[in-house]
Amino acid sequence: MAAGRFAPSPSGDLHIGNLRTAVLAWLHARRTGREFLIRVEDLDRVRPGAEERQLADLTAIGIDWDGPVVRQSERSRLYDAVLASLGGRGLVYECFCTRREILEAPSAPHEPPGVYRGTCRNLSELERAERAAVRPPAVRLRSDVSTFVVEDELHGTYEGVVDDFVLRRGDGVVAYNLAAVVDDIHQGVDQVVRGDDLLASAPRQAYLATLLGARPPTYVHVPLALNADGRRLAKRDGAVTREQLSALGVDVLALIAQSLGLSASTPGDLLATYDPASMPHQPWVFVPPT
Ligand code: GLU
Repeated sequence: MAAGRFAPSPSGDLHIGNLRTAVLAWLHARRTGREFLIRVEDLDRVRPGAEERQLADLTAIGIDWDGPVVRQSERSRLYDAVLASLGGRGLVYECFCTRREILEAPSAPHEPPGVYRGTCRNLSELERAERAAVRPPAVRLRSDVSTFVVEDELHGTYEGVVDDFVLRRGDGVVAYNLAAVVDDIHQGVDQVVRGDDLLASAPRQAYLATLLGARPPTYVHVPLALNADGRRLAKRDGAVTREQLSALGVDVLALIAQSLGLSASTPGDLLATYDPASMPHQPWVFVPPT
């Protein structure tokens, strides 16, 4: 099975930029004959009722999906099993560093801040025991590369940092990078269309996928929606949710189509005319109506 997906975090309502990304993910899946899956990434930052409203918004603009909605909070056995198998291969280690210690550690020139330099990679039993008495460890991947290359339909060949990234946080929550990769593999997702704020995560995820014996998906990292100040669109920018826009008489799907240079009022119409080659490479500046 080949599939694309949309994987929202239920931390609040989707805004028009998120909905546009969902429409693009749906279009890319459907135009290539793939299934389209919805996965709720609810391991962290869950706001009660947000999932229901997000799904209702997708349905309201005409997005359909295949099979039941999958929730990450229901899949911890799967993540634990993958962590255990990576552990059995010697590919994980415990890390006791705080976020602050990592940010303050000396970094190599040109390295983005926060890249983990392997401080806890080779601790002795005794050092580990001493540190474990102070705080519970995160679990990191023992990566044997420093960069990895992915192919992206919009960005071309993209090479990015792969450090010993976190697989499970110190508070026991499975990290997004692990959960997303494991789920994509298990759900047969071979096409990942999402916001380009996640482009820098793709090399880490693709590398992990290869360690798990999977072929990395095709990536399409699409430009985000920005506000009039050129900053990432946010709820505080005004009428940005489907509910708010609909209340002002805006046809949200038609507006998304327009942002892609097309005219359509249903996803089906859009599918008939959408050409990925003409997808805008620039962010979409959205000024909410008043
Ligand atoms: N849950 C992530 C988000 O809402 C998306 C993850 C992904 O598409 O890989 O930003």
